[in-house]
Amino acid sequence: MLSSQLIMEQIRDHPIVATISIAVGAVLASEVMWKAVLYFRDKREKARRVHEVVCFNELGEICAAQHLRNCSPGSPEPVVFRCHNKHCTLRNVGKIVEQIDRAEHSIDLAIYTFTSLTLAEAFKRALQRGVNIRIISDGEMVYSFGSQITTLARFGVPVRVPITTYMMHNKYCIIDGVERVKEIRMLKKRKWMRPCYSIAIIGSVNWTRQGFGGNWEACVITHDEKVTLMLQAEFNRMWKAFEKDENKIIQKE
Ligand SMILES: [Zn+2]
Repeated sequence: MLSSQLIMEQIRDHPIVATISIAVGAVLASEVMWKAVLYFRDKREKARRVHEVVCFNELGEICAAQHLRNCSPGSPEPVVFRCHNKHCTLRNVGKIVEQIDRAEHSIDLAIYTFTSLTLAEAFKRALQRGVNIRIISDGEMVYSFGSQITTLARFGVPVRVPITTYMMHNKYCIIDGVERVKEIRMLKKRKWMRPCYSIAIIGSVNWTRQGFGGNWEACVITHDEKVTLMLQAEFNRMWKAFEKDENKIIQKE
């Protein structure tokens, strides 16, 4: 109480000095706040950076029985808990799930076959968060046994396939691609959207049990700007090219 009275007296006696002091204090405070914003933004960006090759091979399933034993009662999914197998299929699939779970605005998937329930669940969680998902697949394999693409289509995910005898053999996914996020911002008529970090997942592996736990496959998970931009551009081109066939195949079911 006494000190605030003293300050008020000082301001009254030296108004110019007091004004300058307040202005300098405000500038310093805003500088500190700006540095804090940059620090946390940088920290968040570093956490999203990923540049990794994930290999699926004959050693991926050697810990499968252990996972099933550790499976909690009632849980539909085995758990990665205490696994020391560095080739572990579950852990490797978990790396893709982790990226899907981090999607904030968009997921664009071009995939030949998709039957993985674990990844389909991650897609459903993304849908619940309001993430815009689009899928391009192969005209025949979209109907493969256990296809999760038809399931996701029933949840409202738009699916396009080329009507051709050639195969749509791609296996890549772009999460929060820059151009797609811009498009969504314009569609939603928003002036600003929370900054996000694009991730690409690309390789030989189909999102199937055999692909993850039987075959020798590899995929790259990367935040590389050039890779994400180029894949997004190709996805957008294909999406437009297959426009007239959207959901036709799914509706035939
Ligand atoms: Zn394991």
